[in-house]
Amino acid sequence: MSTPYYGPDYAALQDFDPEIAGVLVDELDRIRGGLQLIASENMSSPAVITALGSTLTNKYAEGYPGRRYYGGCEVVDVAENLAIDRCKELFGADHANVQPHSGASANQAVYGAFMQPGDTILAMSLPMGGHLTHGTKVSFSGKWFNAIGYGVDKETENIDYDEVERLAKEHKPKVILAGGSAIPRLIDFEFFRKLADEVGAIFWVDAAHFIGLVAGQAIPSPVPYADVVSFTTHKVLRGPRAGAIVCKEEHAKAIDKAVFPMMQGGPQMHSIAAKAVNFKECNTPEYRDYARQVIANAQQLATSLGEFGIRPTTGGTDTHLSLHDLQGIGVTGADAEKRADAAGIVLNKNAIPFDPAKPNIASGIRVGSPSVTTQGMGTDEMKLIAELINTAITKGDGDPEHQVAKDVRAQVTELVGRFPAYPAPGA
Ligand SMILES: *Cc1c(COP(=O)(O)O)cnc(C)c1O
Repeated sequence: MSTPYYGPDYAALQDFDPEIAGVLVDELDRIRGGLQLIASENMSSPAVITALGSTLTNKYAEGYPGRRYYGGCEVVDVAENLAIDRCKELFGADHANVQPHSGASANQAVYGAFMQPGDTILAMSLPMGGHLTHGTKVSFSGKWFNAIGYGVDKETENIDYDEVERLAKEHKPKVILAGGSAIPRLIDFEFFRKLADEVGAIFWVDAAHFIGLVAGQAIPSPVPYADVVSFTTHKVLRGPRAGAIVCKEEHAKAIDKAVFPMMQGGPQMHSIAAKAVNFKECNTPEYRDYARQVIANAQQLATSLGEFGIRPTTGGTDTHLSLHDLQGIGVTGADAEKRADAAGIVLNKNAIPFDPAKPNIASGIRVGSPSVTTQGMGTDEMKLIAELINTAITKGDGDPEHQVAKDVRAQVTELVGRFPAYPAPGA
């Protein structure tokens, strides 16, 4: 009889390929050794990682469960059906496609399902908080489609709904898209639904960032309002690095055909199995507590940074991330990123709305709470983190040997020691 399970064997990898084995260890050390505040990152569970590191990676399964172009798919069909059923249940969706390899691939499929080259899409522009795949010129989305961008209101720094309405009526887009990568506030899905109906557009929500908060029932869901919702599975949601799409029944065929064969080839069955595990994890009281804590932590972090003059745009956040304007403290986004990094705090520079600086400098930073909340930290720790960020970016100079960087790093080490990432079994 064969062994029941063939799983990751680190010793064998170390023996054969010490260079890559070393990278795996160094990366684990890196995330364990610092504070991970990148809003789009998280730490997926050992169960998710086990499914990812499995022999399911070998199987060719072009097509969909029960309708494959290859033999021998009866086992992986079980995994994909579980992922689909759990996804539909989690989000109360008519239909789910769990094959997209990433958020960008999921988005490609949505374009493929609803638009022809040259058609018009109305979406939030990248500098205002959107995403590359929402019509920027360097992406397929801006090269092949006519993208009209909306922004935020200068006063509130929140979505400028009047502008959205005006542009929709003027340009009659085929698709109206809500969602982005740097939107700290809730989105008014009802407004978008009504507007889309009024101008005869498809209403698409790219929920890549916040879908985990929806899964954890901590914020309202776009699913009842939108024709189609695309998302990533590796951000707040905390699954494997991949994407998925849910939609209304009437669009099911178009979405499935657009994912395969229009945009992708064989699905990654190991990743789909990991999505199934993740959707099961999300449907638990523990995950719902997690989602609520993610928001409480993000709000505390935003408030505490604000008290140091590191101003949260829109005045705060309703979600897992906040965007901070550094102009008041006279530090650029690029310098802040570098200085925080030198002190063991990983975050990213980010353009703020109406940013006068170039994108590679930027006037802001984006901070997110998903990873530190996974580590078990709460609002008291967020107050401390805000203090550490302030010290690092106002007093440091980006040199890890600078005394300020060393002092902050010592406090970071103490903090992550109390809330370890991927603690050793029994620790
Ligand atoms: C992260 C993100 C994506 C892209 O996801 P990838 O997996 O990196 O391709 C798409 N849309 C939004 C809004 C995102 O935040």
